Amino acid sequence: MKSNRRTFLKTSAASLPLAAAIQVLNPATISAETIAATATSGTVPQLTPLPARLAPVESSTLPWQQNIRRVGQSNMTEHDPAVMNIEEWADYWHSASADIVFISVTGILAFYPSKVRFHRQGKFLNGRDFFGECVAAARKRGMRVVARMSPDLNWGDALDAHPEWAMRDANGSVLFSDEDPRLFCTCMFTSYMDDYVPAIMREINSLYDVDCFYTNGWPPIGSLPDCHCAICSKLPPSNTTAYWRAFNDRVLELWHKYDAIAKEKKPDSFYFANLGGNVRCGPNLARLGKTAAWFQADNQGRTSENPAVWGCSLQGRVCSALMEGKFAANVSAAYSTGTVRWRNASKNPAEARMWLNETLASGMALYYHFIGSEAGFGEDRRWQKLGSDYFQWAKKHDAHLKPRRSLANIGVIMGQSTQLLYPPPAAAHADDYMRETTHGIYAALLDGRFAFDFVHEDRLDLERIGKYRALLLPNIAMLSDRQCQQIRDYVRSGGSIMASFETSLYDENLQRRQEFALADLLGISKAGDVIGTNGNAYYARIERSHPILDGFSNTNWLPGAQNRLPVRSVPDPVLTVVPGFVQYPPELAYPPASHTDEPAVVLREVASSRVAYFPGDIERTFWLTGHGDLLRLLHNTIRWITHYEAVVHVDGDGFVELLCWETTPGYAIHLLNYTNPNAHHGWLSTVYPLGPQTVSITLPSGVKVKAVDLLRSERTIPFRLEGSLLRFTIPGVDDYEIAAVTVG
Ligand SMILES: [Zn+2]
Repeated sequence: MKSNRRTFLKTSAASLPLAAAIQVLNPATISAETIAATATSGTVPQLTPLPARLAPVESSTLPWQQNIRRVGQSNMTEHDPAVMNIEEWADYWHSASADIVFISVTGILAFYPSKVRFHRQGKFLNGRDFFGECVAAARKRGMRVVARMSPDLNWGDALDAHPEWAMRDANGSVLFSDEDPRLFCTCMFTSYMDDYVPAIMREINSLYDVDCFYTNGWPPIGSLPDCHCAICSKLPPSNTTAYWRAFNDRVLELWHKYDAIAKEKKPDSFYFANLGGNVRCGPNLARLGKTAAWFQADNQGRTSENPAVWGCSLQGRVCSALMEGKFAANVSAAYSTGTVRWRNASKNPAEARMWLNETLASGMALYYHFIGSEAGFGEDRRWQKLGSDYFQWAKKHDAHLKPRRSLANIGVIMGQSTQLLYPPPAAAHADDYMRETTHGIYAALLDGRFAFDFVHEDRLDLERIGKYRALLLPNIAMLSDRQCQQIRDYVRSGGSIMASFETSLYDENLQRRQEFALADLLGISKAGDVIGTNGNAYYARIERSHPILDGFSNTNWLPGAQNRLPVRSVPDPVLTVVPGFVQYPPELAYPPASHTDEPAVVLREVASSRVAYFPGDIERTFWLTGHGDLLRLLHNTIRWITHYEAVVHVDGDGFVELLCWETTPGYAIHLLNYTNPNAHHGWLSTVYPLGPQTVSITLPSGVKVKAVDLLRSERTIPFRLEGSLLRFTIPGVDDYEIAAVTVG
């Protein structure tokens, strides 16, 4: 869309209350300054040049796992030694160009003749070295091997000998597996993890040549344990900040211990564990990110609680924030994930493919997973061709698909501690509240085609966040004084922020503050407690013209949010609160007070920094309602705080996710097409292709373009250079396209 004087007049007038708009349309009432100011605040982004390119890195100098691009796993069952055709299994993953395969050692059932006490051999093993045969078959084909273990469950004989190994409920009763009560749940604070798991690792190292070790089922994903065994009874209660610290210390202690054991045989071996849960991961990701050599994102498919199609790329953005170039892979289930599961049947091909698309687009390595090999190599073999076709296609384009750094200019603070521990307003379910907040801001950013990264709250040093034009804080309730100071320093250095609701109202120990820690920066002061909704939610009255109101016309009221924290009045407000009121009966559906001086948004400008604060939980309310006014308000505000700057502009129809990377050969612009009736529910069953998408980026000075290739449709397309401004048009997008720019 071109911005000219005429459209600016239209939009700025449209953002005013009706009576005022009539005045503004009379040119005599508009000053030259107003025109100049508004003319630079249209909706066409100003493209900022990409940063100078990174120095090249020779891939052979990287740790081996950083050159892994494809991971294969046929998860082994107790029955597999009786039925699985090892040659067929190994041939499949080899022909699919898997660089590495997972092979089960386990810990629940031994897949080899283990001598470790309580490491029970499966009933179909019959003394056979199934693990060793699989390792040999993989090695023969040049594939690396992950030794896969499961420390989370064990059997009754172990419980009889070691009752102290079990997790217990508040009554002291042992916790058992929900599905198979013969198995008890092991407690991570006990000697089970200190003695039993290391004994198996050392036995494997003594018998086999494996590349690294992995534990499944531990640490927990997305929640914290709640155990009342003798050891845990002495710890702070679960779901407190003090427990979270003890939990993190123990995870790190065991991680380091297992990593050292892995390295006893080979210095380039390592240990890694189950992670995932995206922004709501159990262990502190900032700490783990320093330690982990491999981020195993166990985030295999959509669920009814987490129904958005972007679940995998959301996870990828988390990995990218934490791993900073180290290895991350997302486990894509080829089997049917979700609330009702069929782990031995393939899922919809369009859904499986989209999860793989998202894996690549968000910068992770491909990882394809199925369970069990009945009848040789599976009763259901439909998943196999899809996986091997996808892997082989990706292999052709490895250089363009491996990111070096994100080009995003917006950072979204994740707030991991808020995600795990924050108590939301009374009416909301704690587990759901922050997930809805995350999806709200995520959906809004996708819809506006913004280029954004996640930023962890413990990684707010200016060297990291200085590259972002703006930081978004969607109800990041828990922030320490230090983190608040880092955000202040960021704004002082010229950065902008958008924050909402209870941001900074709690410290890192979940102590509620009397006043927002960021009150000074946000220009706000708390004026009461959270007000929820009973009937109509509150409204925001338009008080005056402002760029964040571009596009609103013919209304004095906009929707507010479900919950808000009242803040004191500010001079010259842009939006004020019309408090909520009865919605039924309609006779009473009118505001007792139609005008207040309570702000519904607080905006500040200090030098080149712009600061916006919404007292409502606006992002989450957008997710709950889908209200287009909230979407427009979020988009306008993000554009205003970023001074309408962008690093990439992709113009075209459709609801897409956009990710942009610098790569070794040049740049990669990824477009995921979510324009689909199943974007928010169920699985994709078909693809609804999009028309042309025109991409504009401004290259760093001196960078020349050799070619622009579309990697999914495998064609070269023409491009145009106007100075350093590069433009090209992708003729269409099926489910996924990558425009790979090769520079020279
Ligand atoms: Zn315990």
